[in-house]
Amino acid sequence: EGLGARERAMVERRQRLLGPAYRLFYERPFHAVRGEGAWLFDAEGERYLDCYNNVASLGHAHPVVVEAIARQAGLLNTHTRYLHETVLDYAEALLATFPASLGHVMFTCTGSEANDLALRIARAATGGEGIVVTSLAYHGVTSALAELSPSLGEGVPLGRHVATVAPPDAYRGGPGMPARFAADVAAAFAGLARHGIRPCALLVDTMFTSDGVFPDPPGFLAAAAAAARAAGALFIADEVQPGFGRTGTMWGFERHGVEPDIVTMGKPMGNGHPVAGLAIRPSLLERFGGRVRYFNTFGGNPVSAAAGLAVLRVLREEGLPANAAVVGAQLLAGLRGLAGRHAVIGDVRGAGLSIGVELVRDRSTREPATAETARVVNALRERRVLISASGPGANTLKIRPPLCLSREQADLFLAALDGVLAEA
Ligand code: PMP
Repeated sequence: EGLGARERAMVERRQRLLGPAYRLFYERPFHAVRGEGAWLFDAEGERYLDCYNNVASLGHAHPVVVEAIARQAGLLNTHTRYLHETVLDYAEALLATFPASLGHVMFTCTGSEANDLALRIARAATGGEGIVVTSLAYHGVTSALAELSPSLGEGVPLGRHVATVAPPDAYRGGPGMPARFAADVAAAFAGLARHGIRPCALLVDTMFTSDGVFPDPPGFLAAAAAAARAAGALFIADEVQPGFGRTGTMWGFERHGVEPDIVTMGKPMGNGHPVAGLAIRPSLLERFGGRVRYFNTFGGNPVSAAAGLAVLRVLREEGLPANAAVVGAQLLAGLRGLAGRHAVIGDVRGAGLSIGVELVRDRSTREPATAETARVVNALRERRVLISASGPGANTLKIRPPLCLSREQADLFLAALDGVLAEA
């Protein structure tokens, strides 16, 4: 219904060919054929404002990255057991963005592989297995990560070595949240220990994106990381979503004044080209490196390294983290203005261009406006603005545009949301 004949045929073909495990976004699935900056274009040439795609973080089809990939692909691409200069240049440039304590970087192709490798290393370093995650965390697709990704739902059981803590929700938790969150982390490791499971790591997305986007108050993560370390666990920052400038600083953990033991990264790292990896304190890698010969066929190949290097250059030359901070602040202010007119907006929160807008049926009970949120997401799609939702009630609008979003595009988004909320 409402779906063009071509798109209807594609949906049918997808189901027939790819089977039943996938989900498409939107009641009327979206078919993109081209991208440029924060715009996506459909098959009819209609323009959509992409406020969701945190992969093409520099903007879709960024010419500097496209050129770097094409040039290297035309020269050489191999497995990763030969010497090659570009991966070393890239490792140097990447490590320069981290605190000096993180002295090694390892490359993979996906964020899942990066988290999987981080867990293997953390187990070797600590001798423990116990992992603490937030109650709607998502950390990846492998079987080891699926069992510590509670956002996948009841159909995917959690591992026996996994404990969850409630997300750091300052909207519902009030000013006591940071202390409560740290105490929950300590209690979760203690609970695992009572079952004979020794601590391994606290693993969190530093923006808690799938839990519903929880950035505030800046600094609250430090106490939780300290609680994990006091229990003998490592602190692993999953920067797959917040990393590479999205929060207005290069890394999400910087807002919290904490240095992770391991940082995992992916998504925007190659602006769409699959590059991922981790940065780590060298001492933690000794035990693992002594036992394991790690080989990842594609991880850090010349083309991926060229793409990653180009991304770092564009981030710097175009000042994109700073743009994310400025335009993100404009969006937050505009959204708070909308909250003055639309009672359904219960809370507005974010850092840079990672923003959550929680919709509620009643501001005093804070009952999640779940169905309303789905309607807003679909109505925005009809107005050619693309976002999604997350959180326990699927009632938090998740807004993550490319970091090149302009002030005019931010205004366009706000006007579209205003219009949709006025209709509802
Ligand atoms: N960690 C987080 C926080 C993520 O959001 C994702 C992907 N949504 C992953 C890890 C997994 O990354 P990938 O899909 O590249 O394997």
